[in-house]
Amino acid sequence: MFDKILIANRGEIACRIIRSARALGVRTVAVYSSVDAAALHVALADEAVLIGGPAPRDSYLRGDVILQAARDTGAQAIHPGYGFLSENPDFVEAVEKAGLVFIGPSAQAIRAMGLKDAAKALMAEAGVPVVPGYHGPDQSPEHLAQAAEAIGYPVLIKAVAGGGGKGMRLVETPAGFAAALESAKGEAATAFGNDAVLIEKYILQPRHIEVQVFGDGTDAVHLFERDCSLQRRHQKVIEEAPAPGMTPQMRAAMGEAAVRAARAIGYAGAGTVEFIVDGRDGLRPDGFWFMEMNTRLQVEHPVTEAITGVDLVEWQLRVAAGEGLPCTQDALAITGHAFEARLYAEDVPAGFLPATGRLAHLDFPAEARIDTGVRAGDEISPWYDPMIAKIITHGPSRAVALKRLEAALAASEVAGCVTNLEFLGALTRHAGFRAGAVDTGLIARDLAELTSAPELAAWEWAAAAALAIDLAALDDPLAGFSLSGPVWQSVGLDCDGLRIAVTGPRATRVCVAGHEITVAAQMDGLRVEGAPGLVRGARLEGQIALFGTVPRLLALRDPLARQAQGGANADIVLAPMPGLVKAIFVAAGDTVRAGDRLAVLEAMKMEHTLVAARDGCVAEVLAAPGAQVEAGAALVGLEPEA
Ligand code: ADP
Repeated sequence: MFDKILIANRGEIACRIIRSARALGVRTVAVYSSVDAAALHVALADEAVLIGGPAPRDSYLRGDVILQAARDTGAQAIHPGYGFLSENPDFVEAVEKAGLVFIGPSAQAIRAMGLKDAAKALMAEAGVPVVPGYHGPDQSPEHLAQAAEAIGYPVLIKAVAGGGGKGMRLVETPAGFAAALESAKGEAATAFGNDAVLIEKYILQPRHIEVQVFGDGTDAVHLFERDCSLQRRHQKVIEEAPAPGMTPQMRAAMGEAAVRAARAIGYAGAGTVEFIVDGRDGLRPDGFWFMEMNTRLQVEHPVTEAITGVDLVEWQLRVAAGEGLPCTQDALAITGHAFEARLYAEDVPAGFLPATGRLAHLDFPAEARIDTGVRAGDEISPWYDPMIAKIITHGPSRAVALKRLEAALAASEVAGCVTNLEFLGALTRHAGFRAGAVDTGLIARDLAELTSAPELAAWEWAAAAALAIDLAALDDPLAGFSLSGPVWQSVGLDCDGLRIAVTGPRATRVCVAGHEITVAAQMDGLRVEGAPGLVRGARLEGQIALFGTVPRLLALRDPLARQAQGGANADIVLAPMPGLVKAIFVAAGDTVRAGDRLAVLEAMKMEHTLVAARDGCVAEVLAAPGAQVEAGAALVGLEPEA
């Protein structure tokens, strides 16, 4: 076993790797960018090396600097985590050339799976079922259109170099093919510098089921499947293992196909073979097709660990250190069921826009496994993936594991930035999901229902009002008392007629829309008349957060600030979220019409086009392409209207 390894990553995955390394007695070296100096992974590691500025290309993607850090600290191996350099074969070669061990597959295995067309061809050859389609070299629009006809509509156009859903277009009828092809190629050329595409049969009501494989370079085993069908915009939201409705026959067929894929490329380490499954009439052993192989540890690996009892990072270290496969296929078995929910800083109603902010309050229940890279007080910056934590639960059955997930989400307390916590909770209560009837279209279909928060109840207003006056900390029980009875005062929350009167030691009466509600402060929260249980919350700068089944964020009203905002300039186009300015289409002096494109902002793998709200003349351009901007940053200003 190694004495010391370097982790070429950050956030939760770096912390998670450090945990397993430490358990094996292996010392760890963290690397960090300048904005990560106080990050959790730096605090947890035995040593840490500053590798550059905040932009990934200036730090976490700088293979040469990371290699130097490994040499300087005497690390013998490098764990890449996921993302960043994890699937970069050139980096693998550089690591090996430097005489160090890359904890992962060979450069050649990564290359074999790097392009979707070559990978499909290789898998078909190895006898792994692939989605029917065309993945040949003839890229002429006529030939591709013919191929689509032959496959039969609907079809999916995919960039061969694709990832993160980019360069992917669904085409329903022949009439839409030419335009979709052009836009897919355009997007692929910009994103990957490679505009080649393949055409695939579009599987209706698809399920995303992937198989965890593990190889030692010659032999391989599988650790069963994960169902990752709950997706929004091709991004996974809640994953589970095993897949609901899985039959022993299909599991055996999928496992065998995945192991065949791993053996075909002499795979070493942890990998995932992703399949698309036709979910229309149950799971059948002939109803799954290879999509792609991810040649690294996957974000959702903890659900596999929960049902198998295997520590996949421990296995990675042992195999990289020269051991053979830690166990045979026969020795692996599934115990119970597990879920993982990904908690993100994001604005769900605004279309899952990534958000930033300081996590003023962060607390998780002890009953769930929490994989996180942040603590209370840490900042979710615009530079990296806005994931806050993975919340993982396990139980003897799917129903129990799901109940535990629901409870863990309700007991998770996060405030300081908007999150998808409420949305995750709504998903755990979705009837179809509860019944195991999942497919990749579930979230999009039921988005309105999943994001419609119920109106604030009177008891929630009352609890928020009590938090606003900080009832629990009120020492003077007679504050607000007068001889003629309680003195009512207004509370600055956006609820008409909300008034509060302190009426006794740590108790108060809140008047909500004419009704009086009693609130009393207790050790662990507030006892509120009409509430389903003890209410927990926090008072933050300018905000009140209520935790629980439906978390709430209420703005504290500051009359002065509101006045100032009322005069805000409507002529300035602001960045709606933190991101990278990809393009600016106008210059000072240009005349624009309402709806004209002014700029493109890239955030969380998505491009957002910002348009002019009215006709006018550009007064100034305040950001340059390539700039990283915060939410609310001014990008383009128009001349004031005459
Ligand atoms: P990327 O590498 O860009 O993420 P993938 O090939 O992994 O693209 O596909 C992403 C998602 O798109 C899948 O998880 C699935 O939901 C959907 N998808 C991919 N191929 C098909 C297909 N042939 N039919 C239906 N849906 C598909």
